[in-house]
Amino acid sequence: MRYFITGTAGFIGFHLARRLLAEGHQVTGYDGFTDYYDVTLKRARHAELKQQQGFTEIIGRLEDMPALITAVQHCAPQVIVHLAAQAGVRYSIENPRAYVESNSVGSFNLLEAARAAQPQHLLLASTSSVYGANPETPFSEGQRVGCPVSLYAATKIGMEAMAHAYAHLHAIPTTAFRFFTVYGPWGRPDMALFKFVSAILGGRPIDVYGNGRMRRDFTYIDDLVEAVIRLADAVPQAGLHAGGPEDTISPVAPYRVVNIAGGQPVELLDFISAVEHALGRKAERNLMPMQQGDVVETHADPGLLHALTGYLPGTSIDEGVSAFVSWYRHYHSI
Ligand code: NAD
Repeated sequence: MRYFITGTAGFIGFHLARRLLAEGHQVTGYDGFTDYYDVTLKRARHAELKQQQGFTEIIGRLEDMPALITAVQHCAPQVIVHLAAQAGVRYSIENPRAYVESNSVGSFNLLEAARAAQPQHLLLASTSSVYGANPETPFSEGQRVGCPVSLYAATKIGMEAMAHAYAHLHAIPTTAFRFFTVYGPWGRPDMALFKFVSAILGGRPIDVYGNGRMRRDFTYIDDLVEAVIRLADAVPQAGLHAGGPEDTISPVAPYRVVNIAGGQPVELLDFISAVEHALGRKAERNLMPMQQGDVVETHADPGLLHALTGYLPGTSIDEGVSAFVSWYRHYHSI
């Protein structure tokens, strides 16, 4: 199969591409190497991918519509996976424009490219942040998402809505995933696990927001990739409830939205204990209040994922954190 994936120099896109290449698929990876975090890590991820057969690297921005459309047409993919985005809740307060440019304009351009290429399936990354201030847990896909508490979430809700319209108008089978705090080797330096490990190994205190009482439905990267690959085969058809009565399939478009997570939230303090255990060192903790734009708990209802794929993420926090720590030590030679 030919896959066109945006964001392959990023954490999730890298892992997905690596797995697909190992299975013998062709992957064109499109990424702008944005400088939101250390570009060396992005280069290192692409260097790994370039060692595998079947990988084509294209360095380009989503905002460059002609380049994006040309790249997609040249690849002629059966499947498009759109992962490139300006991620992160907190940075959307500091630099809101980056979110509108990458996630709103960039996703619109990607939809135009998909319209021209007519893939068998378009898959897009949305986020648990779209559930915003929703007090009802677990979060299930049918709940309303009209109360975002960050611009990041607002741009992802907009992307979902645009994708529904394109699925309807141009008959593009489309699945939007909502990811929940993904972690693992080659992870993002702006996320808690990377920051904790780096601080503890460097002998610095860690900042623990929400006094450590926040809960997150952490998803290990290999589990997420497995779910994405299985969902790629679950091509939506308008009005056909393949996932049972809870299916979010649109009545008018070949479009559905699916949570990807295990549905087992973990308290931040327990997550930190797993990090301490994996490192064999205690952390010095700065207990801090909640940050603006953050939510107290994310907790997925993974029922639809299970109904569509027969699969649920299951890697334990201890296993996942220790895999990250091994990678971190190896990558930084410490
Ligand atoms: P990442 O930042 O590691 O990867 C994103 C990649 O997209 C980067 O390599 C970046 O260079 C590229 N990119 C960003 N803006 C671009 C632009 N305008 N043009 C071209 N390339 C651009 O992030 P990630 O953790 O791999 O996230 C992948 C997707 O999953 C994103 O859409 C993100 O919003 C979503 N998501 C991630 C998580 C998580 O926990 N990691 C949770 C929810 C949703």
